[in-house]
Amino acid sequence: MSEALAYALVAALGNVLGALAVTRRAAATLKLIEHFVAFGAGFMLAVALVEILPEAFARSGTAAPLMVLLGYLAVHLTQHTITPHFHFGEETHTVNPDAGTSALIGLLLHTFFDGVAIASAFLVRPGLGVMVFLAIFLHKLPEGVTISSLMLAGGRTVGQATAGGVFLGIATLLGVVLTDQVGFLVRHGLALAGGVTLYVAASNLVPEFQGKRGWRLPAAFFAGAGVFYLTKMLLDRIA
Ligand SMILES: [Zn+2]
Ligand SMILES: [Zn+2]
Repeated sequence: MSEALAYALVAALGNVLGALAVTRRAAATLKLIEHFVAFGAGFMLAVALVEILPEAFARSGTAAPLMVLLGYLAVHLTQHTITPHFHFGEETHTVNPDAGTSALIGLLLHTFFDGVAIASAFLVRPGLGVMVFLAIFLHKLPEGVTISSLMLAGGRTVGQATAGGVFLGIATLLGVVLTDQVGFLVRHGLALAGGVTLYVAASNLVPEFQGKRGWRLPAAFFAGAGVFYLTKMLLDRIA
């Protein structure tokens, strides 16, 4: 198994764990995962801007800006245009039964690119791979929470809601496997994933806690960006 696939497997398990936290009604865990959203947003935004974009521009050359834009737009299309209801975090109100299914389809493309991001980062250098893995892992738990709670709110069974998390994990692994096979993804996967990552951090995760009061969530957000720099220093020292 490649290094990228091993890391992606851990990330994929995050989807399943998030889904299980919902179906097992682990209230304390869900509260903690809410802070993962804010912390993960800060960490992920920093990884996208400081690590992924410069490497993506080096790898994709003049095609890079378009690829980043396409990645960004693709998430908006699949998660928020053809999907009637989607937002990150636990679903607390009743939704249409189809909302869970269409959100799952939208999220599958996103989680596929989570895998593309991990694999293409490892293609550049292991240090970048680990950094992108961390950014993705931090939002994998909330991602699992999102899909399973949305499916439960739409009247699906506990088994179906858990399966939602499993499917997201499988899409991530598929992203890794295909990135090594498809020439286009080998070249432009990082730039596309850069756009996707930027969307997830700034347009999915940040709006989740923007409107919430108090200092804990903003503190977690800024801490995420700060811990990114600490991790970077640490990884640079090891490399
Ligand atoms: Zn909702
Ligand atoms: Zn994701």
